[in-house]
Amino acid sequence: MSDAVETPRTHFIRQIIEADLASGRCSRVVTRFPPEPNGYLHIGHAKSIVLNFGLAESFGGLCNLRFDDTNPHKENIEYVEAIKRDVRWLGYDWGDRLYFASDYFEQLYQFALELIEKGLAYVCDLSVEEIRAYRGTLTKPGRNSPWRERSVEENLDLFKRMRAGEFPDGSRTLRAKIDMASPNINLRDPVLYRIKRGVIHHQTGNAWCLYPTYDYTHPISDALEGVTHSLCTLEFEDHRPLYDWVIEHVSVPSRPRQYEFSRLNLEYTVMSKRRLTELVEEGYVKGWDDPRLPTLAGLRRRGYTPESIRAFCERIGVTRADNRVEMAMLESAIREDLEAKAPRRLAVLYPLRVTLIDYPEGASEWLELPNHPKDPAQGTRLVPFGRTLYIDRRDFAEHPPKGFKRLVPGGEVRLRGAYVIRAEEMIKDETGAIVELRCTLDLNTLGKDPEGRKVKGVIQWVSAEHAIPAEIRLYDRLFKVPMPGAKGDWRADLNADSLKVIAESLVEPSLKTVEPGARFQFEREGYFVVDPDSTPERPVFNLSVGLRDTWGRQS
Ligand code: ATP
Ligand code: MG
Repeated sequence: MSDAVETPRTHFIRQIIEADLASGRCSRVVTRFPPEPNGYLHIGHAKSIVLNFGLAESFGGLCNLRFDDTNPHKENIEYVEAIKRDVRWLGYDWGDRLYFASDYFEQLYQFALELIEKGLAYVCDLSVEEIRAYRGTLTKPGRNSPWRERSVEENLDLFKRMRAGEFPDGSRTLRAKIDMASPNINLRDPVLYRIKRGVIHHQTGNAWCLYPTYDYTHPISDALEGVTHSLCTLEFEDHRPLYDWVIEHVSVPSRPRQYEFSRLNLEYTVMSKRRLTELVEEGYVKGWDDPRLPTLAGLRRRGYTPESIRAFCERIGVTRADNRVEMAMLESAIREDLEAKAPRRLAVLYPLRVTLIDYPEGASEWLELPNHPKDPAQGTRLVPFGRTLYIDRRDFAEHPPKGFKRLVPGGEVRLRGAYVIRAEEMIKDETGAIVELRCTLDLNTLGKDPEGRKVKGVIQWVSAEHAIPAEIRLYDRLFKVPMPGAKGDWRADLNADSLKVIAESLVEPSLKTVEPGARFQFEREGYFVVDPDSTPERPVFNLSVGLRDTWGRQS
């Protein structure tokens, strides 16, 4: 598993498509990814994107990007643009097939007239509450609306006047005439159209005051686009009979079929757009691209590569079983990708001053360090060395715990890519805190261990004269529990320490001119990415993931 690009695994949907191609039900696969532009995409959407675009790709078919924009209250153009950016970033191309369900409003309206003419839809004057009361329950059949037997003429007249804006919001709906006693509640005369006057739609402006429901819009949009396999998550399983009913009763040009798979759930985070919107709007995070969020914009800012997300989506597979995936599995995918790609650098998160008392005063030298220990093709860089250095304060222990392999009083440690040093003396301030180490170094140890001694510990360092101050942002899980909100309000499960900012870190000078998005491994610390908040004076790095892989190692 060294390459992050996975060979697609087979699964039940892939098998259905293979059978459909073999039997001739379709000659070319057409799928679609149908986001509603009411929030940013998250890693769950990535599963659906990888599935839809990936299937089209591997069968030589097409995948459309279609915005499911029938609910203008919650939608806006910022979300449309963010979604397009994220799909492109993941590496997928919808070509010239960018669609909006709102492109079909006129055709959807004409199909509604067709249903009315066939006696299969009627204008109903019940209020939302009355419709709910008439609907019945899982155990009790519903009751027919008193408006169910209106004549075709009256229905046509009223529906046209609904479109013309003659009636207030909530006064009337158009409903399918199916079966109020159906065991499937979705078939109990579902609403097809609602009146929403005075809202401005991000695509159609004020052209419409009548908006179709998702259940009516989706199958027709699929059929108009020639979608062969309409893939959605399991909560739509009970809607499938309605999907099929719509396709059967209007004269659409093709017959798509719906298949459901289970949603991706990730531990220690939330994924519904409603929750994510609350996290953003209530200020628990700094925006939709906060690196703690499971949004694609957040994961990108956190340093995830598109390749690692696609590999993760392939690995979790596609089934109909409920599941909750461990965060460690996602982390493992990015670690694996960056292990091969990310150049190594030296950074000291918590600096402790070190003076090399036997190194000549005012002298310095540039040492050549490899960018990658296993990949000589990534070349080398020069790192300055001098009499005053900083090491990480966690790499020195006055009273070392058992097994401590780094620097201790009188002990030796190797500086990565440089010399072996020995701690001779600690300088403490008035509070007793260690503020400086005075060390000696052995000039004969550059790149080799001293005669007769084996030095176990290797630590990172920077030259005091040359190092650049940097801000380092360490992230932890956004929630304290695997299933936030399972026991009451999800807000109570937030992890108060999910972001830790280290303002006084130091990094090697080659990191002075880095671009946002550049990724590195800080030796012995983890993988870091340059944040867009960076300036040349003060680079800012986000922790993508630590070095230690826990995925698959526990059991
Ligand atoms: P949310 O529940 O987060 O609000 P949604 O399903 O309302 O998401 P849509 O924009 O309608 O969001 O989703 C677009 C597509 O992505 C749909 O086909 C949906 O089934 C799929 N999708 C959404 N969330 C997940 C998930 N967690 N796992 C897999 N697919 C998902
Ligand atoms: Mg939805």
